[in-house]
Amino acid sequence: MTHRALRLRLDTDALQSNWRWLDRVSGSRAGAAVKADGYGLGAVEVTTRLSGVGCRNFFVSTWAEAEALGKLPEGVSLAVLHGVGPDDADAALSGIARPVLNTPQQVARWKEIAPGKACDVMVDTGMNRLGIRTDELEVLDSLAIDTLMSHLASADEDSALNRIQLDRFRGVKAAVAAKRYSLANSAGICLGPDYGFDLVRPGLALYGGLPREEAWGHIRQVATPEAEVIQRRTVRAGESIGYGATWVADADTEAAILNVGYADGYLRCFAGKGAAIVDGQRLPLIGRVSMDLVAIDCSAAPDLAEGDWAALEYSLPEAADASGLSQYELLTGLSDRFERLWS
Ligand SMILES: *Cc1c(COP(=O)(O)O)cnc(C)c1O
Repeated sequence: MTHRALRLRLDTDALQSNWRWLDRVSGSRAGAAVKADGYGLGAVEVTTRLSGVGCRNFFVSTWAEAEALGKLPEGVSLAVLHGVGPDDADAALSGIARPVLNTPQQVARWKEIAPGKACDVMVDTGMNRLGIRTDELEVLDSLAIDTLMSHLASADEDSALNRIQLDRFRGVKAAVAAKRYSLANSAGICLGPDYGFDLVRPGLALYGGLPREEAWGHIRQVATPEAEVIQRRTVRAGESIGYGATWVADADTEAAILNVGYADGYLRCFAGKGAAIVDGQRLPLIGRVSMDLVAIDCSAAPDLAEGDWAALEYSLPEAADASGLSQYELLTGLSDRFERLWS
């Protein structure tokens, strides 16, 4: 196989340990959001690893994502969050997943094409993104609802809206019969077991994201990008490096050029902020991020040479602070040029 000079190291043990922690503290059972190809890590690989430790409920956004998962292990269920649109009937009737019905139109469509067949439902309790409004719940009559869910808008903050949505969801639960009720995402789980109901739907925290302080010390980093050194060179005092000559050496500096750049999802906002880690040494980025290249100051790593690998600093909360990107964008933006390598 052709050598790939970029890889994403993925830690099975950390993924499984994150799921176990979320499952335990939720006070209910944890499923897993594996949309966007498992937040960029690989939905098939994530699903296999999490079903292996007892996760039974998975969520994707679209029917194409559901199909891409292929055959799921026995006893595992899948839901499609965007529901059943005008062109989704064939996929939805194939039985590979339940639709999460989001609108009165989708509810009417499901009643017509699959009367009595199990579905999930999203109710809007204050986010105004997707979901049946609480004043139109009567459209749900005669549906066979497996999981009735709502979604928190501000769970990563100490917002009054959290409690309001919780109270509204309790009202919905009292009014609409379903097998199970589900409210919390990763951040919602951190708000405590009141938010747990029967099933929680973590995404970000499974993959090493820290949605709230409560998760500190419990959630482990799962994904670490690594790039190869193409050249080591000496930049003389007074010389600059990279586009725009934004960085100028004040003394002779050892630089290593790594084959990673913004086209890989390592965006320009890491300039002056990001770093590589080699043998425990932090080697800061110098100059701009190019499309496929960055430079690091490797003076502290005298042995680093062509063909060596350097891990990029990518602890999600810290990388988010440094770059101004969200932890979600940091994961889902990593390109296909990274070879995904699971431990
Ligand atoms: C993406 C998503 C989740 C997971 O959210 P995280 O913040 O990543 O934990 C849960 N529920 C719904 C409806 C979603 O769209």
